[in-house]
Amino acid sequence: MFDESRCDRCGDCFVRCLYVDYDKERAAFEIEELIAGRGAPILSACITCFACNEYCPTGARPFDLIMERQEQFGSLKIPPPMIASQEATFVATTEVKVPEAKERVLSACVFSRSDPDLFEGRLFEGLPTVKGRHFFCYILFDHLGAPSVTARHAQGFVDNLAVTGAQEVILTHDDCYGMLVDRAPQLGIEVPFHPVHIVEYLRDYLDAHSGDIRPLGLRVAYQRPCASRLSPAKEEAVDAILERIGVERVKRQYDRENALCCSGALTALQPEGAPALRARNLDDAQQAGAEAICYLCPMCRTTMSQDAQARGLANYHIIELVRMALGDLPNRTQTK
Ligand code: SF4
Ligand code: SF4
Repeated sequence: MFDESRCDRCGDCFVRCLYVDYDKERAAFEIEELIAGRGAPILSACITCFACNEYCPTGARPFDLIMERQEQFGSLKIPPPMIASQEATFVATTEVKVPEAKERVLSACVFSRSDPDLFEGRLFEGLPTVKGRHFFCYILFDHLGAPSVTARHAQGFVDNLAVTGAQEVILTHDDCYGMLVDRAPQLGIEVPFHPVHIVEYLRDYLDAHSGDIRPLGLRVAYQRPCASRLSPAKEEAVDAILERIGVERVKRQYDRENALCCSGALTALQPEGAPALRARNLDDAQQAGAEAICYLCPMCRTTMSQDAQARGLANYHIIELVRMALGDLPNRTQTK
């Protein structure tokens, strides 16, 4: 929730936004308008990347205010029936069924069907897994200017994971982890288990099997998901994984706090702008000397991989890189 008491109207949030070109004065005007309860051009220019929450130096959470106003004014021009039909595709109508898991459980979210390769092999052997719509976190709706949908389902998402009885829940999707460590607590929802991000799990797995690692010797541009704005602290685990498996995360303009959206949100909001955004991102990756793009979010991989491949850039989910380094998948990096 936006905290007006923390906002000094400095404008830094929108000055740093990578999708508008505002000076401090214009940015301060826009935030003032939003605080006053009025609409402002930023609402329709915003591609819902969550970044300004991370940019704000005082923790005021300006993106939370943007989301609220976008929904209030219908700024993203997504017709309400379309939001409702999207919501209906994720609502589970059956009783949740879960494996009993005293200690740890893996949540595959809705990706076990769309990206089954991520869950094969030795990495998750023996881990009880939950998957499907009962375990969808609805952060997607924050990208669609409908945060009330996310809020409406947040408690159910937490409850369904809690039914497992596990002390730790490993989240494959960055969005789900962000929901548990940021969005749900902001909504006043208690999370009765310890959320573990997939990168923390992978880092610890590599540490426990360090003797099996064969360094890959690859230079990648890392595609930081928008949801990482909700949990920037786990960035250290991403760096640790890449370092352990011999993969260089190239230094480039659009990484870490300055990362660009994969264009997935833009494809829904302003489809005509999506190819140019991908080109801006991939130009930067190539100029920095990357041979491949490394993804954390399966949706980012789906959105960007075709354009990347057309430029001769390989595409790897971070789980794939770990599996290759452990000899659990053929090392495709050597065939380039
Ligand atoms: S939300 Fe944060 S960055 Fe934006 S104007 Fe307020 S204090 Fe500055
Ligand atoms: S959420 Fe992203 S696109 Fe929207 S105003 Fe904030 S930084 Fe800009």
